[in-house]
Amino acid sequence: MTSKKRWSDVYKSENPFQLPQALLHALRQKSKEFKTKSEVKYLWIYVSHDSLDDNGTPSKRLSTEEWLNVIDEAASLGVQYVVISVGTSLNEHPEVKEICQWAQSMYGMHVGVHLYCEKLTPDESVLLLDLDKSKTAVFLDCCDPAVEARFKEHGFDVYPALGQDQEHVSPECHLPEEMTCVGAAGTLYTCGLVLGETEYRLGHFFERPLDSVMHDPSLPHSIPEGLPKSKHRCNGCPPLMVQKMQERTK
Ligand code: SF4
Repeated sequence: MTSKKRWSDVYKSENPFQLPQALLHALRQKSKEFKTKSEVKYLWIYVSHDSLDDNGTPSKRLSTEEWLNVIDEAASLGVQYVVISVGTSLNEHPEVKEICQWAQSMYGMHVGVHLYCEKLTPDESVLLLDLDKSKTAVFLDCCDPAVEARFKEHGFDVYPALGQDQEHVSPECHLPEEMTCVGAAGTLYTCGLVLGETEYRLGHFFERPLDSVMHDPSLPHSIPEGLPKSKHRCNGCPPLMVQKMQERTK
């Protein structure tokens, strides 16, 4: 699968990112020529939510091909772990399996599927059966024993997605310095805790190379102490999830 669809292939309306995309393409070509060492280890993808309307559900999500472009670019930065946070049933997100397979087969990435929908059924696991289970972990927000048991029955490693217990960030969190987080419509954020927050919006995937975003000192690459964890409580945060996996294998 090598074709790379752009906005015009997917949407009928005029592409508001046409000029930025052209510039981005040129910059990406350059960055391939002058690639420097990067510290980015983690990619966090939200396929269900972003910031475009009141409930955070975007009207135009990235296509599967565009998500694969995100994986390609993250891989070029050295990303080894990707967590895909899914806020509805996997039945509504067939792209998740494709993103996982691309990351695993093309780049040998370890993939975490973080399910934070409250109404999961035991059959969710069937949709991920084809993945490389040695490189797949499932992180669950819900504590439905039947869902957990079904994933385990199919050979998946399953972990609770809870990141940290505190009600507020403490101390100041610098984990975003080695992580990039992309919402369902392609908006870049400091991390999943602040998904949809304008103050922590780093731009859009079509606007600039990820490398440039990650090394722009004018953008917020940390979360200040005291920020309330009212929404996701850091659940699914890739470096925390990787730590859970490593602790189990010790
Ligand atoms: S989700 Fe929480 S732990 Fe992860 S980077 Fe954000 S503030 Fe830090």
